[in-house]
Amino acid sequence: MYVLRGGRVADVAGTREADVAVADGEVVAVGDSATVDDAVAERDAGAATEVDVGGRVVAPGLIDAHVHAMMDGRPDVSTAVSESDYAASYRAASNLEAAVQAGVTTVRDLGSRGTLALDAGEAVAAGDIDGPRVLACGRNVIMTGGHGNWFGREADGPAEVRKAAREQLKAGADVLKCMATGGVLTEGAVTGAPELTPEELAAFTDAAAPTDTPTAAHAHGEVGIKNAVEAGISSVEHGTFMDREAAEMMAERGTYWVPTASALRGIVDNGVEAGIPEDAVAKAEDAAERFDDAWDHALDAGVPIAMGTDAGTPFNFFEEIPREMAHMVDYGLSPEAALEAATVNAADLLGLDDVGRVAAGYRADLVVLDADPTEDVEAWQDPDAVFARGERVN
Ligand SMILES: [Zn+2]
Repeated sequence: MYVLRGGRVADVAGTREADVAVADGEVVAVGDSATVDDAVAERDAGAATEVDVGGRVVAPGLIDAHVHAMMDGRPDVSTAVSESDYAASYRAASNLEAAVQAGVTTVRDLGSRGTLALDAGEAVAAGDIDGPRVLACGRNVIMTGGHGNWFGREADGPAEVRKAAREQLKAGADVLKCMATGGVLTEGAVTGAPELTPEELAAFTDAAAPTDTPTAAHAHGEVGIKNAVEAGISSVEHGTFMDREAAEMMAERGTYWVPTASALRGIVDNGVEAGIPEDAVAKAEDAAERFDDAWDHALDAGVPIAMGTDAGTPFNFFEEIPREMAHMVDYGLSPEAALEAATVNAADLLGLDDVGRVAAGYRADLVVLDADPTEDVEAWQDPDAVFARGERVN
């Protein structure tokens, strides 16, 4: 049991002075010292460890709705194709450890080989490896030859797409992920071009419906975005070429946008000199210009936003996930809205009701920061302490 004493608490409910008591993996009390002392006494916690957080701020651990645990930020993703599954698994373990130490306490893996990320989630839950809680999609469902075909499950036609989606559910997927358009990192794929058809996307979301499993679509181009939204997708990933009409459709239906600004920045800021393939850099530079407009449309229309980074793509490292918070503020989100995106919104998108707030009954997934992140968004970047499921991990 821990008592975080003498600081402030910041979450979607605002910033206020409060102590926080943590036991058995949960937050058990938040309030003045008398309230917290009562909770401690009730639990007979002679062994409660007092942590002085005076002058500091306790906030929810971040939720990243889009990572690839098997990828390590190397410049040329295609060099990972020939590696063994074992090599990819060890890399995933070290990525997950880096993420949790940076204050990221929940991640959603949107595409790894086979059951790698699903198994990683079980390994974290069992305490075999250190890491955030992992929700995962299993394999991406893609058209034959489409974006990410080297590790996705290729499927064509509604019946095959439905079967591919059901295979992931059978393997234990927490979310289903498909490719609605081409991408930046697959050579030859045109970034914005539609891939799965409206009929295939409808079969995909239909497969998820009986279990109310969230669905995610990788989509850059506006046609692919609209196809996915019309099919009832839960979140549009990247959404780089989102136009006004797409933004309004998303706002009206409550479709989340996961912008993954870190992915574009990682490619554009490093470039060919850093070893990123020319084709990917050219596509990313083109995309970066349109991405500014996408933000304008999304903010004007009021599209709900959930934080995600696409961690694992070139120069997009797991230990740097919290930088996405500052990127989102650069694009026009308030620090309060960025907090909301990485906590309650991401939790809602993932279907979790026990994370995203500093409140009694929630999982003790907490970070201790030097400053109030709703005043200084950079405060997320170097937490003084991290608690994951009540255990201090940093
Ligand atoms: Zn991705």
